[in-house]
Amino acid sequence: MTLTVKEKKDVEIEISEAWCKGCVICVDYCPHDVLIMERGKAKVANLAACTACMLCELHCPDFAIVVRDKSKE
Ligand code: SF4
Ligand code: SF4
Repeated sequence: MTLTVKEKKDVEIEISEAWCKGCVICVDYCPHDVLIMERGKAKVANLAACTACMLCELHCPDFAIVVRDKSKE
């Protein structure tokens, strides 16, 4: 029998409230529903589901979201 072990990601997500303009792009791109909008700003709702795919960071037009995959540091 083969067991597949899923790598546990050690991830940190920083969102700058000052820079976030609430465009919702990061929420729409996230394939794992990690992010939500709250009072017009992006917010991390489920960090455990984040795979550090970086789609949110890459598509944020305001450089307001930074994902750190600490397992690669
Ligand atoms: S993509 Fe950037 S500016 Fe837009 S809601 Fe997300 S963090 Fe805010
Ligand atoms: S890195 Fe990927 S999985 Fe994590 S919050 Fe951003 S888009 Fe979602």
